[in-house]
Amino acid sequence: MENKKVLVSGASMAGLTSAYWLNENGFDVTIVERASKIRGGGYPIDVRGSAINIVQMMGIHEELNAQNLNNMKFNILDSQNNIISKFTDESMKDNKDIEIPRGDLTHALYKAVQEKNIKIIFNDSIKTIVALNNGVETELESGIKKQYDLVVGADGIHSNTRKLTFGEEENFTKYLGHCFTGFTMENYLDMHKEAVIYSEAGRTAIMYATENKESVHAFLVFSDEKEPFVNHRNIEKHKELVKNKFKNISGIVPKLLEALDKSEEIFFDTTTQVIMDDWSKDNIVLTGDAAHAPSFLTGQGSSLAIIGSYILANELKNKNNIDDALSNYEKVMKPLAEINQKAIENEGSFILYPKNEEEMEKRSIILKQLENMSTEDMEAHDMIDITRVIEYPNLSNQ
Ligand SMILES: Cc1cc2nc3c(=O)[nH]c(=O)nc-3n(C[C@H](O)[C@H](O)[C@H](O)COP(=O)(O)OP(=O)(O)OC[C@H]3O[C@@H](n4cnc5c(N)ncnc54)[C@H](O)[C@@H]3O)c2cc1C
Repeated sequence: MENKKVLVSGASMAGLTSAYWLNENGFDVTIVERASKIRGGGYPIDVRGSAINIVQMMGIHEELNAQNLNNMKFNILDSQNNIISKFTDESMKDNKDIEIPRGDLTHALYKAVQEKNIKIIFNDSIKTIVALNNGVETELESGIKKQYDLVVGADGIHSNTRKLTFGEEENFTKYLGHCFTGFTMENYLDMHKEAVIYSEAGRTAIMYATENKESVHAFLVFSDEKEPFVNHRNIEKHKELVKNKFKNISGIVPKLLEALDKSEEIFFDTTTQVIMDDWSKDNIVLTGDAAHAPSFLTGQGSSLAIIGSYILANELKNKNNIDDALSNYEKVMKPLAEINQKAIENEGSFILYPKNEEEMEKRSIILKQLENMSTEDMEAHDMIDITRVIEYPNLSNQ
């Protein structure tokens, strides 16, 4: 198939990748993005496995690799800010992985998209979607009404396209027991390509320094068995909730709370997975976190978004009709998404985010061993994810 009109909702990992490959494969693509520009954000994310093949084919691999934050040092602190354990992330990942600030990845993808004939509408969002016999009619919040052959919902974990097409978010989400807030603060410890981490049962504080010497990315993560009510837009309520959870905790926490209080821009969310029986309905399809968010605990969300979006565009090119393409996309991609979602059950997230005293104890045993662990030891502890490569043309060999 080619020459079909596609509207992509969302201009991040999934949206930019699908738009790029749909255009490359002969489709007429428009992107609508709710934000006023490509969203940056400095927290480091990994591009791994088959996603590496895709960024290579997009011609941005070298640029991303030049910004690779390899050899990050992780220092685990005690309540007096003494280092009790340290390790580098090199031993925990494949040496082809690229770890970069999120904004550098989205901007590189955006640059690749800008070189194509792809229209981007910022500051707008789909208001209504109506399935037609042979396509979809959409109306944007701005009033623009248009018909497309296909709508791709790449609008993240709180997907608007999913809500408009499949219904309320809570029908498709699985809460994993953590909440987190992220913000930027002064690099008062003068760190460089390293992270400091302080945990007590159910609460973890992290400061993460990339190349930027002025500021660090701070995270406060807490466990809560019951998902707290979260209005994703109410910053003051988020601050209040986090300050309450972290009150009377020492170590680096008071400094982080002070900075949180002053921050005008923070993000707050829960660790949640998106699990759906079907990723498409009529001529509307979901990709990336909108379809299969694995949660940041897996470190796989961006790579899955890139891989799934590439496969979606490729299936649309190769099949004679949209139905067959969408069903094959799901058939190929779902097993990879599911393996990565399941990896959460046996991976080592308790090292950074121990939920309770039992996990604190397990963590202190592992921390004692960590400095001397080989890659084989890490695999034995399920601390290395091995579910990154998919059997698919151009993507199988790394
Ligand atoms: C703290 C943290 C650490 C992480 N670490 C890693 C990691 O190490 N490795 C990894 O692979 N992943 C990591 N992730 C996950 C990763 O960021 C996501 O899985 C990935 O960004 C998903 O890409 P996406 O394009 O599907 O969605 P998103 O990146 O969420 O993008 C959605 C886009 O849609 C836009 N949008 C939203 N609503 C609308 C609307 N109504 N209309 C139009 N546009 C809309 C948004 O503005 C955004 O641009 C981490 C996430 C967090 C929060």
